[in-house]
Amino acid sequence: MRCPFCDAEKESLKVIDSRACDAGRAIRRRRECLSCAKRFTTYEKIEEPVRVMVVKKDGRRIPWDRNKILRGLERACFKRPVPEGELLRIVDEVEEEVFRTHDREVPSTLIGQQVTDRLRRLDQVAYVRFASVYRQFKTLDDLVDEAKAVIDAQRYEDPGQGRLFVEPKTGNCDPPVEPPRRKRRKNDPTASA
Ligand SMILES: [Zn+2]
Repeated sequence: MRCPFCDAEKESLKVIDSRACDAGRAIRRRRECLSCAKRFTTYEKIEEPVRVMVVKKDGRRIPWDRNKILRGLERACFKRPVPEGELLRIVDEVEEEVFRTHDREVPSTLIGQQVTDRLRRLDQVAYVRFASVYRQFKTLDDLVDEAKAVIDAQRYEDPGQGRLFVEPKTGNCDPPVEPPRRKRRKNDPTASA
């Protein structure tokens, strides 16, 4: 710390008063610079842990709660062959990602997206269950469409699942050939000889 007036170093600064403030969470110190005789005040506070708030679709803000994500995952994975450790791993990954990219507020939709992306790779049934809550599908068709998309994506990502369509062999799809016409007999060149 240096004097804000003459830039004197901390050895020149003398504390002339010190008292607790902010209900004991901070200390206010009155200091005097021995070089320029000016006075100023400093505060020492405990740094509050950063608390990320989740902004819901309706605009409400609620504190970040990793247990809420875990409970949502557990509901989606009810009676599915998914180890609890995998769910905790998802929560850890999502929390790390959210804290890395958001320091104050994070939209709940982003959390939902982060979770579903990971759950989709883990268990497709659990994914559709989770997505049906998080995306609030309006109709059964929406839900079925999503389930189909999952199945198609799974085929695409995992060739072992087999292909839905088999590439036609070349030749099978050629345009229909016209029925052979009777060939006209060419004039026998030997006849005119
Ligand atoms: Zn000074």
